[in-house]
Amino acid sequence: MHRGDALRCQPRFAARIAASPNIAVRLASTASSLRVANGALTGVLLQGGASLDVDGLFVRIGVDPSVPPGDARRAAGADGYLRVDGDGRTALGGLWAAGDCAAPAHQSVAWAVGAGARAAAAAAAALREVP
Ligand SMILES: Cc1cc2nc3c(=O)[nH]c(=O)nc-3n(C[C@H](O)[C@H](O)[C@H](O)COP(=O)(O)OP(=O)(O)OC[C@H]3O[C@@H](n4cnc5c(N)ncnc54)[C@H](O)[C@@H]3O)c2cc1C
Repeated sequence: MHRGDALRCQPRFAARIAASPNIAVRLASTASSLRVANGALTGVLLQGGASLDVDGLFVRIGVDPSVPPGDARRAAGADGYLRVDGDGRTALGGLWAAGDCAAPAHQSVAWAVGAGARAAAAAAAALREVP
């Protein structure tokens, strides 16, 4: 079940889902409540009145970048993610960023750790330049 009219995940994941005969995708659907009988899940009720008979449910909602309010927002694009160069430097002097908040297309631990190391090194080098 997906609230939008199209899957927004990486295209390779959407392609694998489309090619899987045992996965039925239900777009533009929002769950409104769960149906439970004798302590066990039996269904999901959807907005609009339809329902699905299920005995298991895995919830995965999306993530939004967490950029604190204030000046840092000026370094973010329209999607809310901070824009950085290869060293994690933002357009705001003295502000570096790394990890998910600056990587809409590469959200993984490996990417965050590597970007964090680069940004830390660049920030340290910049501090050494401060008279
Ligand atoms: C369900 C799920 C499964 C995943 N599975 C994998 C996987 O198998 N392999 C993989 O490589 N990646 C996986 N990821 C992605 C991976 O977790 C992230 O890419 C990675 O944790 C990013 O690291 P980060 O340091 O940028 O952000 P985070 O790990 O999210 O750390 C950010 C930290 O900042 C804190 N924070 C946020 N806002 C503020 C604020 N205003 N002030 C102070 N602190 C704040 C948060 O509490 C958090 O502790 C998964 C993510 C999810 C959601």
